[in-house]
This record gives sequence, C-alpha cells and structure tokens, in this order.
Amino acid sequence: MLTKTDTGALTFPVPEPPATGEVTEIAPGILWARIPLPFRLNHINVYLIEDGEGWAVLDTGIGNEATRAVWSALVDGPLAGRRLTRLIVTHFHPDHIGLAGWLCERFGLALLTSQTSYLACANISLSPGALDAKPYREFYLRHGLDAETTQRVATQGHNYLRMVSGLPPTFERLVAGDRLAIGGRSFDVLTGNGHAPEQVMLYCAADNVFLAADQVLAKITPNISVWAVDPQGDPLGLYVRSLGELKRQIPADALVLPGHQLPFYGLHARSDQLIAHHETRCAAIAEACRTQPRSAAELVPVLFHRDLDPHQMSFAFSEVQAHINYMLRRGELAWVEGGDDVERVVAPVKRAAARKRPTAAPGRRRRAGNP
Ligand SMILES: [Zn+2]
Ligand SMILES: [Zn+2]
Repeated sequence: MLTKTDTGALTFPVPEPPATGEVTEIAPGILWARIPLPFRLNHINVYLIEDGEGWAVLDTGIGNEATRAVWSALVDGPLAGRRLTRLIVTHFHPDHIGLAGWLCERFGLALLTSQTSYLACANISLSPGALDAKPYREFYLRHGLDAETTQRVATQGHNYLRMVSGLPPTFERLVAGDRLAIGGRSFDVLTGNGHAPEQVMLYCAADNVFLAADQVLAKITPNISVWAVDPQGDPLGLYVRSLGELKRQIPADALVLPGHQLPFYGLHARSDQLIAHHETRCAAIAEACRTQPRSAAELVPVLFHRDLDPHQMSFAFSEVQAHINYMLRRGELAWVEGGDDVERVVAPVKRAAARKRPTAAPGRRRRAGNP
C-alpha cells in the first residue's frame, strides 16, 4: 500500500507537474507527461525519450478510454511532427502496462520490457480467475483475513484485465546489464524486485539521469506484497536488497525520474529513508508480537491506523505478510500453534532469535511454542 513517509533531504527541480495533455522537458531530450488514474494515487508519470526522429515512450497509464484520449492529445499536441518510435514498459502493473496493446497497435511500436513483466501480464490475461482457487483462498483465511476481503483478492485478476488493453504478440526482452541505445544516448538497464518482479529501470550515465519506475518514489513507499502463489516469498528482503544495489550503481546526485509524484534529487537519502521506514514497521510488529501471538490480519491495525475499505485492506494485509516473511527469515518472528485454524507469529526473546538466524529456512516452517 502506498504510504506517506518523511522526505527531508530531497530536492525537487520542478515543483509543478505538467498539466494533462502537456509535457515538461525535465532533462535534455526527455519529456515528462502525466496521465490521470482513477485511484487515490491519481496519476502516473510517463516519459518520452528523444529517439532519432521521434520519441521512445516509457510506460502507458491504464487501458481505458480516458488514457487513450490523453495519448491522442499528446500526439496531436506537444509531440506533433515527431512520431513515437517504441514503447518501454517498466513493470506489469496496470498503470504502467495497461495501454501497451493499444499503443503498439495504434502507432506501430515494438514493446521492450523484462521477460517477467511480459509473462506476468500474459499470465493474468490468459487466466484471470486463477487466484480464485482453494489453496489461495485458504492461504488468506488461514492468516486471518475476513471472507469479504478474501473474495476480493481471489477475484482481482478480473479487475486487472479491466485495466489492461492486451499485449502485442511479441516483445523485445530487456535484461539487467544490457545497454540500450535510445537516440544518441546509452542507457544501462537495471532490474529490481520487491514492488514487482524484474521491474526495469534505466540509467544514462552521461546525463546522470535515472528512470526509477516505482522502485524509489519521493513521498510514498511502493507497495510490497506477498501473494498466495508464493506464500513464503520475501519481497521485502528483495526490495531492501535492490535499494542497496541502486545505491552502489547510481550516483547520489542523479536526477531521479520516478513513476509517480515529482522528479527529485536525493536517491541515496531516499533509499535510506525507505529502508528505515520498513525497519520501523518491523519493530512495531515485533513489539506487538512480544506480548501475544498475532495473525497477519491482526497486525494490520499495528501498521495502518485508519479504517480500510476491502480494497485497501487487501493491500495492507499483503504488505503485513511481506514484513512477517522478512522477519521470519531474519529469525525475528516464529510461528505458533493457536487454538483455532488461524496461523499466528510471536517475537521470540532476543537470544533465541540470534541463535536461530543462520538456520531460518523459509520453505520449511517450524512451529515454535510461546517463548
Ligand atoms: Zn507499480
Ligand atoms: Zn505505479
């Protein structure tokens, strides 16, 4: 779930985003445009990178009539006279890939993205009801989620498809370590996990510009979720690892062009803030689980202090799961048998946690008693 966090130490070179249908040249030869989204997070940033006679497009907005109208207005307005050359998609979330099928068809573009992004979108498109299966429903119920929210999560593939205009039949695979030439420039292809698997990011060393997708946003934390199909997965661990890699690979003074909110300077500081934010949440979970065992659903109010509708609850629940799995791997939580069918975790005493750390095998859950 997108959560507001402290943003001290960042600077914002352009304080106002472009109006819908307009563009701002945010770096030499890189245009920034905004596409409205019908959500609480009400926009996505898309970028147009000078590519010879035209513009390479980065990300699309969701696949609906309103987004098509914005793209038509951009093409007929500020981009008039120069064609679109190709489409780069950072990850499979509908706000980023949603209009890929339509844009590629309408403007004759090739799609460039990671294999996982392409296959994840294709997979949901082929089988939108796949999550509505007994083992997945049971996963949510076993961790204390209520029936209404479980129903919503189990059927979210159908919601996804309502926001995606399909995929072109072929794509060009982007792989971390590739060099991608766009116009006269060379971009390093990076990928990161945690928010979405194999999310693509681009870095141009010559101009010190970093297209960060949703991995590093200025004022909110990207959603980090465990999904029932990978119930012991550790997306938060992968996310923290990715932030560390970005700090090693991208200079602290790079201009960051993110998928939402304002472009900014302060990548390393922001990465540190995001890591600290998650550590604070882990500490809150540990504190809550020291006094009594709690299920994932019971931990939601520990991290989220407002009323949540079922949609928000589904994200909050999956985000709590991500913290639980991260802490289990670090030996900071242990499973405990309850008197009912709901699984709960406890925070072991510190010395026990230290002893367990090297052996934490995420695939094999060991049940532990109360400490
Ligand atoms: Zn995303
Ligand atoms: Zn996004």
